[in-house]
Amino acid sequence: MHDKLEKAREILAEVTPLKTDCGKVCGARCCRSLEGEETGMLLFPGEEAYYAGKPGWTLRRTASGMLLVCPGSCARDERPLACRIFPLLPVIREGEVKVAADQRARVVCPLMKQGIRGMDPAFAEAVREAGKILMEDGAQRTFMERLTEEQDELKSLRDRLGGI
Ligand code: SF4
Ligand code: SF4
Repeated sequence: MHDKLEKAREILAEVTPLKTDCGKVCGARCCRSLEGEETGMLLFPGEEAYYAGKPGWTLRRTASGMLLVCPGSCARDERPLACRIFPLLPVIREGEVKVAADQRARVVCPLMKQGIRGMDPAFAEAVREAGKILMEDGAQRTFMERLTEEQDELKSLRDRLGGI
């Protein structure tokens, strides 16, 4: 197992966006697929090793990377990084890790109304810390650079569509 990945997952093992269970506020919207749609979480490089052959979990190779389809409920220690950091993301700005609200979360997560400032600062700090550790690994850094580009594209699309 990759040690940076393991460390990043560990840092985010206990902290959550709110001090209370935010899933109770929204009915765990980020864990629900839309009807007829089997969405999945994009894994950080190497993370598929945690799920290979695990009953109820499916891996799919896509152009963007490995996608994980989960059973729809899980124990905290089973969660991929994508779920542990949601609705935030570690992005890379001028060579430094910054924490940003995930553009994809805007339509799903009610916490996005208040943004990062409404969340537990320890959660945002843990996302930043995990990002800094991942940056030390070349493959993870490249992956995070791609995520950052994707976020910028989504943001510019949103702005063009009038900020919806
Ligand atoms: S959608 Fe947002 S508020 Fe709801 S469980 Fe997910 S992170 Fe928490
Ligand atoms: S892995 Fe767990 S936290 Fe992530 S979407 Fe599935 S059920 Fe929700």
